[in-house]
Amino acid sequence: MKTISILHTGGTIASKVSKKGGVEAQYTAKEILDLYPEIKELANIRSRLVANILSENMNFSHYNLIAKEIKKEIAEGVDGIIITHGTDTLHYTSAALSFILENLPISVILVGAQRSSDRGSTDASLNLVSAVNFINKADFAEVAVCMHATMEDTHCSILPASKTKKLHTSRRDAFKSINAKPYAFVYHDKGIDLLRKDFRKVNKKAKLNLKLFNPKIKVGILKTHPNMSAEEISFYKNFHGLILEGTGMGHAPIEKIDKFTSENKKILNEIKKLAKKIPVVMASQCIFGRINMNVYAPGRKLQEIGVLGNLADMTAETAFIKLVWLLSNYKKPDIKDLMSENLRGEISDRTSAEFLEDDFNK
Ligand code: ASP
Repeated sequence: MKTISILHTGGTIASKVSKKGGVEAQYTAKEILDLYPEIKELANIRSRLVANILSENMNFSHYNLIAKEIKKEIAEGVDGIIITHGTDTLHYTSAALSFILENLPISVILVGAQRSSDRGSTDASLNLVSAVNFINKADFAEVAVCMHATMEDTHCSILPASKTKKLHTSRRDAFKSINAKPYAFVYHDKGIDLLRKDFRKVNKKAKLNLKLFNPKIKVGILKTHPNMSAEEISFYKNFHGLILEGTGMGHAPIEKIDKFTSENKKILNEIKKLAKKIPVVMASQCIFGRINMNVYAPGRKLQEIGVLGNLADMTAETAFIKLVWLLSNYKKPDIKDLMSENLRGEISDRTSAEFLEDDFNK
């Protein structure tokens, strides 16, 4: 049997209804494991708690902590690692780990649950068992997410770490692959359907390198919206970077067209000033598709004044994580090029088909 480490960080999967009312992260590592005894029959399981928090509280220091714990487990020679995690920010953490963990020798699979483990209806069991089955069967050495593929308890998807997102507040199939195919489906009867072959293979001799986050870096995410004011942009002048979550293919209200749109000129100026000081990266409020600031004249203007991110198809969350990670590890002049380079599968090939949720997530 393979040896798999399960590192718990909290979230609904590690939660039960508390005496105070409401669900709270409070199970110990042993208690969680005791709830799912079938896992122990599938692999030699090592299990411990590295944090016990609801994931909306996670920050860059937690990413570093989890990465260091992963490194320790790998040094012990385990065959795969499962991270249990709250679902709210699971996709931020999966993206962060995919950047931090360079030259990964084995798989690191993040698993969450939408219903706490003390409920009969919990989705934790299938998610955990599927992650174990996947590690057992697949020659896979990437960071990925394993969650329900549909609302039924039939199979889970293995989703690419930097191209996934929580699309539903409560459904068990909340996580979908964005602008990319899932790596695989794992069925309840333990079978695996591999949907892609473009992943790192297990190489236990590979020497893991950690490129950690600098917890002091401040990057904001700002959504553009109707009736926006320039002040919203200038608010970020003392930050290290900004993700501008524009509309459509990467647009912002920067045109003075009539007597109602005079603020837009100020917005343009503020973006210009900011982009001279710090990296300002465009991402889209649309879930699917690619930024293309070549199509409309204002998009070209945004590029001219230094807004980055053109032609990338990253989620805003991944763009945020990537920018912080780049600022933590690279010199400023390199960031512009690296932001538009595909480093960890976060930007898909432009020649591949444009993916829609329904095409690949079922
Ligand atoms: N708020 C919880 C968390 O992200 C929700 C969950 O785990 O599903 O930790």
